[in-house]
Amino acid sequence: MSNPVTVTPNSSIADMQDRRLLMDRSVTGHRAVQMPEPDVPISDLPDDNLLRDADNLQLPEVDQLEVIRYFTLLSRLNFSIDTNFYPLGSCTMKYNPKLNDQMAGLGGFANIHPLQDDTTVQGALEVIYQLQQWLGEATGLPGVGLAPLAGAQGEYAGLLIARAALDARGESHRNVALIPDSAHGTNPASAAMAGLDVVTVKTDEHGNVDVDDLWQKADENTCVFMLTIPSTLGLFEPNIIEINNIIHEAGGLVYADGANLNALLGLVKLGDLGIDICHSNLHKTFSTPHGGGGPGAGPVMVSRDLTDFLPEPVVVRATSSAPGSQGHRYHLYRPIESIGKINGFHGSFSILVRAYTYMQSLGGDGLRSVSENAIINANYIQAQLKDRFDLAVDRICMHETVLSGKRQADRGVPALNIAKRLLDYGIHAPTMYFPLIVPEALMVEPTETESKETLDRFIAVMQTIDNEIDNTPETVLNAPHTLPNTRLDEATAARRPILRWTENQ
Ligand SMILES: *Cc1c(COP(=O)(O)O)cnc(C)c1O
Repeated sequence: MSNPVTVTPNSSIADMQDRRLLMDRSVTGHRAVQMPEPDVPISDLPDDNLLRDADNLQLPEVDQLEVIRYFTLLSRLNFSIDTNFYPLGSCTMKYNPKLNDQMAGLGGFANIHPLQDDTTVQGALEVIYQLQQWLGEATGLPGVGLAPLAGAQGEYAGLLIARAALDARGESHRNVALIPDSAHGTNPASAAMAGLDVVTVKTDEHGNVDVDDLWQKADENTCVFMLTIPSTLGLFEPNIIEINNIIHEAGGLVYADGANLNALLGLVKLGDLGIDICHSNLHKTFSTPHGGGGPGAGPVMVSRDLTDFLPEPVVVRATSSAPGSQGHRYHLYRPIESIGKINGFHGSFSILVRAYTYMQSLGGDGLRSVSENAIINANYIQAQLKDRFDLAVDRICMHETVLSGKRQADRGVPALNIAKRLLDYGIHAPTMYFPLIVPEALMVEPTETESKETLDRFIAVMQTIDNEIDNTPETVLNAPHTLPNTRLDEATAARRPILRWTENQ
């Protein structure tokens, strides 16, 4: 017996999508795969009590086309940089050249094992070695450890290095991390993980570190000062040399969070500014699809004095006369004072290959133009929108601009709604309500890879939304109107997510 099928015409293109879950598409007996005849002897199933209760194990029974349709639908519900403009500040959602993925997928990279003997993976080790050299060159901090798997892990490794270096000087009592209130949120979290007490440093009215406040707080207990660079206000810190001197005179070290270096590449080297330790996110600055929790890579870079403390392993090059060695061999190496391993093996190798490919294909001049274009694009948006939106700080920004929706909130429409309304125009929301020190913050990072036409469209959309706030505010307050889901209950979604299919849900 089968149920009678009722049909109604679609009212819009969006309705044409069959939104049923895979389980709801299940029809007893449908199969997506055909197994070949076994070429090994058939043996009996294990004891019944070792088997799962087949009646309670609900699996979808679907044919191949149904599987394809279902997953293709899911992919179309995704928002990605490959489909639309994604100006999410502090996240550097730039275009990721497909060449990087092709290189990471080459058999010689994708099919090797981390426990393979050094001599059989010389090419892979050479990639790691080269990348160490280039990142050292780009940041002016020649000691490079590629093991950290994310920006936050790079911070953690960097802070352990700072602690180890101070221990070695007999100054293990230094237990304070000074962190500006404009720092990225992972900075205080990493400092706490590394066992440091966090002391907040204020930001002055120009968006810079409040040097007087820093001066008072830097003392014999200072372990590190952690500066997000550019700051989360999208600004270059003009007093950076003075700040570094204050910290060094107090006997501490300076840590730079360089997760997003696409405003500084080829323009300034962190080491030249007196910074001792930094990390960078390869999955932001050096392209790699990211978001949703990874995979990433957050290498840590240190000054020459600190190289002995780097996490294990680093790759070193030694002269060799072994046959086929072309004069040298690459080896995995444990630095003599290493903070140890911070994860299983050698880091996110496939992300390292992507970053290597990106740097190799752009070259030094290309990397410099990345920064120049990132800065020009952000300033173009800032200049075009500043008559409609307040700026967190009215001065030339770096790779991102922080707008404030205060004027719009005063007219009854807070920033959240502007972010939601952007979705109706096919634009991902900017980062909202961050940094915390800016009321109604909308943090926009266009990146260097967007064209002027895309930026102009974004500007026009922002102006249109500003007009809508005057004319039809409820359109903005109830947005989005065009997406499959509208306003989600974010708290319940995070606290009580429904991760299993249940009948009639
Ligand atoms: C993204 C980001 C981080 C954290 O990086 P993860 O890879 O997400 O751990 C740290 N600092 C800044 C400035 C960032 O933008």
